[in-house]
This record gives sequence, structure tokens and C-alpha cells, in this order.
Amino acid sequence: MAVRGRSGRIDADRATVYSVEDAWSHALDRGGPMDFFGSTIEVPAQRVLGSLGAMQALADAWVASSAICRDYPDAGAVVVRARRGQSRAHYEPGGVIAIPLEQPWACREAVLLHEVAHHCSEGQCVTAHDGHFRLAMVRLAEVAFGPEAALLLRASYDAAGLAVAHAA
Ligand SMILES: [Zn+2]
Repeated sequence: MAVRGRSGRIDADRATVYSVEDAWSHALDRGGPMDFFGSTIEVPAQRVLGSLGAMQALADAWVASSAICRDYPDAGAVVVRARRGQSRAHYEPGGVIAIPLEQPWACREAVLLHEVAHHCSEGQCVTAHDGHFRLAMVRLAEVAFGPEAALLLRASYDAAGLAVAHAA
């Protein structure tokens, strides 16, 4: 289903962003050394978070990190709540992240990071998953997983033809 943002424009990049991030998340499920254009880089293994409290603490820590406070000074607090059913995690404008806790895939750090990236970038984005969103993802990936995992994500967007906004 096409989703229109505030601008009325269709969120055309959404499916490609999801598929890039799914592949990236799979790499983080394994963690460890991996080939990157002929070089070996080391990515950490992501965690599956066991509770709403653990997710809230992690989201708070990412938003409060010095890099994110510098780049998104207006981001404000974020609230993580549970949602029911088989649906995906989602972000509600204004700072609420809803996670279907019964779904183990939804409790991965990479999924939470995606929703926090919506929170950080919502003031800049024209469509929900545009280049400003992707810049927020790359910045948060560096905070959460380190520079090599962030580089892998940036290169994966690039390989899929998805531009990342330039840092202001
Ligand atoms: Zn999204």
C-alpha cells in the first residue's frame, strides 16, 4: 500500500529501504567479520530485546547520545509502547514507537533503530523514508553498532540506488 506523508507525496522508497535494511539486519544477526568490497570489516551481533523496558532504555540512550543530540537537537523524548497483532513496528508522529512484542523479529535492535530514525528525521523528511530518513539511520547505526556497520548500511543504500542526504 502506498503511504502518503504530510506533503501528500507517495513514500516511493519505502519497499526498497525495507529490503536493504532487512539484508543489513541479517548481517547483524550473525555479526563478526564480513567481506566488504574486498576488505574485511567487523560488525557486531545485534541483540533481540526482551522487554519494553529494555527497548525504552536503548531508545533513550541513542537519542541522548552526543552525536544525535548534536545532529537532531529538537528530537525530544521518545516513548516505546507495545502494539498487538502481526503488524510491523511503526512510528507515530510526535514521538511514539509501537512494537509488536509477540513478534521476535520486531524486537531486534535494527527494527527499533528504524523507528528511532523516523523520530529524529521527521522534521526534515518530505516522505517518510527519504534521504533525510536514511541519513538519520546511518547516524544512528554508528551510535548503536559502530562505524563499520554504519558504512555497510550506507553502501547498501547506495547499491540499491537510494541516496543518503548530505549532512547539514
Ligand atoms: Zn519506516
